[in-house]
Amino acid sequence: MNQTPEISIVVSVYNEQNVIQTFYEKLSETIKNIPYEILFINDGSTDESAALLNQIASKDVKTKVIHLSRNFGHEAAMLAGIDHAKGKAIICMDADLQHPPSVIPSMLQKFYEGYNIVLMKRKQRADASFFSTLASKLFYKLINYLSPVKFEQNASDFFLIDHKVQQCLIHNFRERTRFLRGFIQLIGFQKASIEFEAPARFAGQSKYNTRKLLKLSINAIAAFSDKPLNLGIIIGLIMGLGSVVVGIYSIVMYFVDKPVSGYTTIVVLMSLMFSINLVIMGIIGKYIAYIFQEIKQRPIYIIDRIVENK
Ligand code: UDP
Ligand code: MG
Repeated sequence: MNQTPEISIVVSVYNEQNVIQTFYEKLSETIKNIPYEILFINDGSTDESAALLNQIASKDVKTKVIHLSRNFGHEAAMLAGIDHAKGKAIICMDADLQHPPSVIPSMLQKFYEGYNIVLMKRKQRADASFFSTLASKLFYKLINYLSPVKFEQNASDFFLIDHKVQQCLIHNFRERTRFLRGFIQLIGFQKASIEFEAPARFAGQSKYNTRKLLKLSINAIAAFSDKPLNLGIIIGLIMGLGSVVVGIYSIVMYFVDKPVSGYTTIVVLMSLMFSINLVIMGIIGKYIAYIFQEIKQRPIYIIDRIVENK
């Protein structure tokens, strides 16, 4: 394909054999009048996804499949797509039809109005439980408290970015500890947001379990805030002040001949102090681990091969 595509659609795929075909049909139908390219990133799928994607690419010259050498995670896969996209506007979306292709025209409209970024905000998730909604609320409260950048709640991994933002992501945001959605909100430029209704997953299962979501949340906080490191200083100062009071009290009591019997106090305080100490050491350890990861400069993803029908 020689023509520069107007839009690039970046879709990360991990074991989505039951949705790919339907997703592709709906997507290509929606954008058939715009010069497009579709970049599927196969994030180390172990099911039939790879073969299905290659089949689609063999029939549609506007579709490319970037096969990663193993599973690198959703964000790394999206970055692989963003790195390779040639369109003037780039849209990242999920393959499971939770990001409905039908809203793409309204995203493009914002782009033509001159916005550099179009954030898509979920109205509600049809498959979200009470617990996950609460957890998400708490997470945004916490990160907005800790981070100097304010994040939009309900922002999703469904967004449009233009060439300028793409260049920033390619050249300036190569951290190993990432929160892509956060980067996009931090980067500046003209932003628009559109609400959309996220339907339940079309087929298959969510790849984000509680453990992965927790990891994503902790990474996000570490990527955007160093405030947790102040915890040691704050608690240390409070405890220090308390210990002066207790110390003076004990000394005075000793001299007025009523020494305090302190066994319980000692046991309680010791165990409290030790646990606080260990937690704070753990937090410091986490940040050291992040630094360690960064200085190793390992690749964010590794490409096995790119399949396209030229
Ligand atoms: N995904 C991926 N790599 C992973 C996990 C997920 O590329 O390691 C893709 C997945 O195929 C889907 C998108 O990321 O297209 C979002 O995943 P999922 O629907 O499981 O997340 P949820 O919508 O439940 O947050
Ligand atoms: Mg999904």
